[in-house]
Amino acid sequence: MRIFHLSAECYPVAKVGGLADVVGALPKYQNLLGLNAAVVMPYYDRKFVQENEFDIVFKSATLLGTRRLYFEILKEKTDKLGFELFLVKIPGLIDRENIYSYPDETEQFIAFQLAFLDWISYSGQSPDIIHCHDHHSGLVPFLLYHSKLYTRLNKTPTVFTIHNGQYHGAFGWEKFSYLPEADNTKTGLLDWSGGINPLASAVKCSTTYTTVSPSYLDELSINSNGLEYLFYLERAKGRGIINGIDTEVWNPATDPMIAEKYTAVKVAAGKQKNKEALCKRFTLSLEQPLISFIGRLVLEKGADLLAGSIEKSIIDHPGGVNFLILGTGDAVIEKELERLKDLYAAQCNIYIGYNEELAHMVYAGSDFLLMPSRVEPCGLNQLYSLRYGTVPVVRSTGGLKDTVIDFGETGGYGIRFEQDTIADTCYSVDRAIVLYNNTKLLQQLRKRMMALDFSWDTSAKQYIELYKSIKSTII
Ligand code: ADP
Repeated sequence: MRIFHLSAECYPVAKVGGLADVVGALPKYQNLLGLNAAVVMPYYDRKFVQENEFDIVFKSATLLGTRRLYFEILKEKTDKLGFELFLVKIPGLIDRENIYSYPDETEQFIAFQLAFLDWISYSGQSPDIIHCHDHHSGLVPFLLYHSKLYTRLNKTPTVFTIHNGQYHGAFGWEKFSYLPEADNTKTGLLDWSGGINPLASAVKCSTTYTTVSPSYLDELSINSNGLEYLFYLERAKGRGIINGIDTEVWNPATDPMIAEKYTAVKVAAGKQKNKEALCKRFTLSLEQPLISFIGRLVLEKGADLLAGSIEKSIIDHPGGVNFLILGTGDAVIEKELERLKDLYAAQCNIYIGYNEELAHMVYAGSDFLLMPSRVEPCGLNQLYSLRYGTVPVVRSTGGLKDTVIDFGETGGYGIRFEQDTIADTCYSVDRAIVLYNNTKLLQQLRKRMMALDFSWDTSAKQYIELYKSIKSTII
């Protein structure tokens, strides 16, 4: 089966968050299971692209309204990522460094999708499935089924995966002219609340849509930034498939980025060495439990709860707990955390920025990983922390609910709390401190969590089953 994954991000080419990790791993595991999966993404002027060699496999021009855009499709020469990687390059529009936040982002992602469709259409390709990820490729199902340009491909099944339902990529109808001529009885399929909404359109038009955890599928009809009613209506078409993790990249036994490699057998000693390196670098005490946070500093992640919770916990446990934050995002949240670092330097440190290597060190060297998320479609951090024997302390939402069992329950290994409040977060920190002082239990839980299997094997198989089932209903 020939699959094209379409995405704005793909690790290690360009990453902002979990989308990149998934698109960088899923196709690799699908190929190991016998598929022929490739990734198509925009061209970014970044390290991976500069340091690797590409062939130009196709050249043409597409129309964005009246603008004629010349584009090239580049293919990485060696398939070193475990799949074919194709980049869509449009000089002057899709050849920049950053992934998001340009003022003409709408034009960038529409052009990306049009160039992709032109390429496969005019080069005579017939993929079995087109798998779109998040709103950046959300117009593809509509264009494929209702635009007059792509009729040859209009029987191709499409899967749309929602990694984050809060962002829709919506824009005004005045930009409708950017799209090629379509069946005008169908243009309502682009609309939500009076605008063109790529996420909503993909949910309506794709053959099937998936979310990155079963609980998140249920939650979208309660909280999806204005699309709740749509998800309520389209609930039956959706399917929740939990993400896996790339167990080659995230493996404490082989990870070149951590201070000391370790397996479950030597977890206590291994983690201690990594904690030493981390505490030394961030001038924190080695004896106390180290509770860390990694992620975007935004409301979705509950990052606004961090400063208040850390301050209260430090006051409640003077000299009894350490915190380390690695993240970047909202300027107000960053400032609040910086203030804490100045006030409580002995128990709290913060690294503002994005640092992949440091993230690995934090997963390995921390005792606990705190995730007070308000919304968590799947969450990969807790899966990495489980793999590194670091107890996840998570709010019960989305994928966190599906992957973390509280240690108070049979077979449990993590700490879960219900409310997105400072009080509930601090209560869980208190439980973490008690657990830290029960060395025997902590050791048991570490071994239990390191034995869990969140590899892609299971999830990649579920996607393949899904592809097979939708192909048989369409053709
Ligand atoms: P998101 O909603 O941000 O996509 P996920 O949990 O799905 O959340 O994925 C987050 C990914 O980004 C993980 O690989 C995590 O380690 C990484 N990450 C987030 N913030 C940072 C940071 N500041 N430095 C390094 N890695 C980060």
